[in-house]
Amino acid sequence: MAPKKGILARLDAGEVVIGDGGFVFALEKRGYVKAGPWTPEATLEHPEAVRQLHREFLRSGSDVMQTFTFYASDDKLENRGNYVAQKFSGQKVNEAACDIAREVADEGDALVAGGVSQTPSYLSCKSEADVKAIFKKQLDVFVKKNVDFMIAEYFEHVEEAEWAVQVLKGSGKPVAATLCIGPTGDLNGVSPGDCAVKLVKAGAQIVGINCHFDPMTCLETMKLMKAGLEAAKLKAHLMVQPLAYHTPDCNHQGFIDLPEFPFGLEPRVLTRWDMHKYAREAYSLGIRYIGGCCGFEPYHIRAVAEELAPERGFLPPASEKHGSWGSGLEMHTKPWVRARARRDYWEKLAPASGRPFCSSMSHPDSWGVTKGHADLVQQKEATSEQQLKDLFQKQKENTSH
Ligand SMILES: [Zn+2]
Repeated sequence: MAPKKGILARLDAGEVVIGDGGFVFALEKRGYVKAGPWTPEATLEHPEAVRQLHREFLRSGSDVMQTFTFYASDDKLENRGNYVAQKFSGQKVNEAACDIAREVADEGDALVAGGVSQTPSYLSCKSEADVKAIFKKQLDVFVKKNVDFMIAEYFEHVEEAEWAVQVLKGSGKPVAATLCIGPTGDLNGVSPGDCAVKLVKAGAQIVGINCHFDPMTCLETMKLMKAGLEAAKLKAHLMVQPLAYHTPDCNHQGFIDLPEFPFGLEPRVLTRWDMHKYAREAYSLGIRYIGGCCGFEPYHIRAVAEELAPERGFLPPASEKHGSWGSGLEMHTKPWVRARARRDYWEKLAPASGRPFCSSMSHPDSWGVTKGHADLVQQKEATSEQQLKDLFQKQKENTSH
């Protein structure tokens, strides 16, 4: 088999690279992942489920199989009563993720990206050397398994993302870095423009945003990052992987603060037609690595691939089962449904929620707790009953719902 074109060669040539979707949320709904620790050990416990989801994203047009290693750092695997590090070892969890991603990537022309994310060690104010040692353990697995490039994603503090990039650079492979921040900047108050500059200076060739906010908010933040890079006369490829949930009511902490997080977000899910708008706007902004995060299912990625099919020159395999703009409905039995087999019908649709007493916005929790706060500090033992009681009380005092 001829070697695949690398991530930078694809982006340098101006190609659109389509990312994948939100593995933890998708696998939680399928019954293989537990919300909270987000159990990356699914790669060992249910490899067939992880493999199948990779396959569905590949079939829907994803060019990158990101290893299912979110929150798979050793410190996270032994946080608050989590015994995965003891039971399996972080190394085995990460190795299995690489093997599964590679197997499916080689069923198509996709690349494998090794992913690291923010650590409890950073939030607990551990030293730069300690936090970097945590990333290095995952990197050692990615190097051994020869992934194609690295992604440092889901960082609320650009400082920690810079440390991750510096470690990942040690592999000699291309590095992408995305923060989960909104237009107001990171949780230390660093602006998106300055964050982008810091990430590029740390050595990332691809920078951007993932998770925490809806596509349109993420694109607002991307505009600020792009402007920051231009002002600093720095060049980098741009990448965006937003939520598939509408979040107009979020504050700077994103959807984590919404009372519906993570078990009641369904009324906020974007339709496939919303994804067409997102893909087009991202492309128009000059972003060429376009994917998704939590809430993204394979059909959302397929919509991105369909919107950008003119630029890419092909449709994904999953479009065999999806006539363009609903054209498959031409075969529907009911005439009023056949009447929906057209683009302007779906483009103009304003979907109802079907919930008569459901408000359009929520009040975010806004506890304002971040790095260094006692409630965030890592602890090996499970959260105690007294700790929970204190939090329930705090919630009553802090919120009106
Ligand atoms: Zn996410």
